Amino acid sequence: MVHTCRNCKRTFSSELELDLHQDNCTEGDLFCDRCGERFSERKATTDGWHYRCPTEDCDGEGIGEEIHKVTDVRLQTP
Ligand SMILES: [Zn+2]
Ligand SMILES: [Zn+2]
Repeated sequence: MVHTCRNCKRTFSSELELDLHQDNCTEGDLFCDRCGERFSERKATTDGWHYRCPTEDCDGEGIGEEIHKVTDVRLQTP
């Protein structure tokens, strides 16, 4: 069975490989608090200042408000 990273669409032959990849997948380093979706920075912002959730039907926006960096959250969670 093939496991696909839903952020960058790379495929892996095992779930473990996918897990390891997702930890440092640069295509999903942001997530939306509202819908829980992960996505890349370039999908969420065009100017590096205003961030908006790229998910349809979701209007989460604002870095540090509804959109967070996955790495920041990991640091806060022991
Ligand atoms: Zn990926
Ligand atoms: Zn969202």
